[in-house]
Amino acid sequence: MKTDCFGLIGHPVSHSLSGILHRFFLTKMNKSGTYNLFSIPPQKLPDELKHIEASGVRGVNVTIPHKQAIIPFLDQLSPQAKKIGAVNTILFEEGKRIGYNTDYDGFGLLLQKCSFEPQKKKVLLLGAGGSALAVAHYLLDHGAAEVQIASRNPGKKYQDSFSLISYPELPKKLSSYDLLINCTPIGMHPKCDECPLPPSYLDAFYGTIVDLIYNPLRTSLGREGEKRSLQVSNGLPMLVGQGFVAQEIWQKKSLNPEWLTEAEHILEKALEASYESK
Ligand code: NAP
Repeated sequence: MKTDCFGLIGHPVSHSLSGILHRFFLTKMNKSGTYNLFSIPPQKLPDELKHIEASGVRGVNVTIPHKQAIIPFLDQLSPQAKKIGAVNTILFEEGKRIGYNTDYDGFGLLLQKCSFEPQKKKVLLLGAGGSALAVAHYLLDHGAAEVQIASRNPGKKYQDSFSLISYPELPKKLSSYDLLINCTPIGMHPKCDECPLPPSYLDAFYGTIVDLIYNPLRTSLGREGEKRSLQVSNGLPMLVGQGFVAQEIWQKKSLNPEWLTEAEHILEKALEASYESK
C-alpha cells in the first residue's frame, strides 16, 4: 500500500514552489502526506528513481533536466506525454511507472482562467523548447487554426507537426495572431528586465499575452502588454494547474477546482515574501 508521499525530481530543485503547492492540496484533502525535493544529477537518475520508488512514494513530479531523459525508465506513457515527448508526473502503481504530462492540462486551466477559447484561433509561441510542445499540442488538440513557433534557429530539427519561423519575420505577421505565448526563459528572475521580443513589436499586436514565467509575477513582456491595454497572464495558473492535475492522478479522483485560485494566492504570497527578503 503506497502512502501519501510525493516529491519532485530535478536538478536543481531548491527554488521550487511545488512543495508549498502540494502540501496545500494535502491539507485541503485532510491528509498528512509529505512532498520532498530530490536533487538528482543526470547520471544518477536511473538508480535514484529505483530508490525513490522502493521507498513507497506514490508519485513524483519531474522537472528540468529530466523531463525527456526519464522516458526510457518508464513502463507506460499517457497519450499526451507520448505526443509531447516529455513527462512531468509519474505514478508508481503495482510495480509500474506511468508517465504523464500535466503541463498540457495546466496550460488548459490557464486558458480557462483567461476565458480564452482556442478554437479557430491563431497562436504564436516564442521559443521552440520543451514547454512549447506541451502548449502547442494542447492548442492543436483544442481546435486552434494555427500554431506558429518563433525560434532563434528556425532550421533546427523539431517535431514535424510544427513549422518554425525566425524573429525578424514577426513584425509583419504579429497583427494576425490572437494569442502570443512566451515559452522562453527570457525575463525570468533575476534577469527580470529582459524581454523576449523588442517591445515595439507589440505595437502591432492586439491579442492576449501569456508568459509561462511566474517568477517574477509581472514580467517585462507582461508589463509591455499592460502598457498597451492587452490582456496578460503570467505562468502561475499553469504551475498550479499542472500540480492540481498531478494530485488528481495520484489520488485517482477529481479535486475541488476552487482550490486552484486559493493555491495561486498562496504561491503569490510566497513569491512576494521571497522578493521582500532579498
Ligand atoms: P527549454 O526546453 O529550455 O526551452 C526554452 C526555449 O527558449 C529554447 O528551446 C529556446 O528556443 C528559447 N531560448 C532559450 N534561451 C533563449 C535566449 N537566451 N534567447 C531567446 N530564446 C531562448 O525550457 P522550457 O522547459 O520550455 O521552459 C521555458 C520557460 O517556461 C521557463 O521560463 C520555464 O520556467 C517556463 N515554464 C513554466 C511552466 C509553468 O507551469 N508556468 C511550465 C514549464 C515551463 P529556440 O532555440 O528555438 O529559440
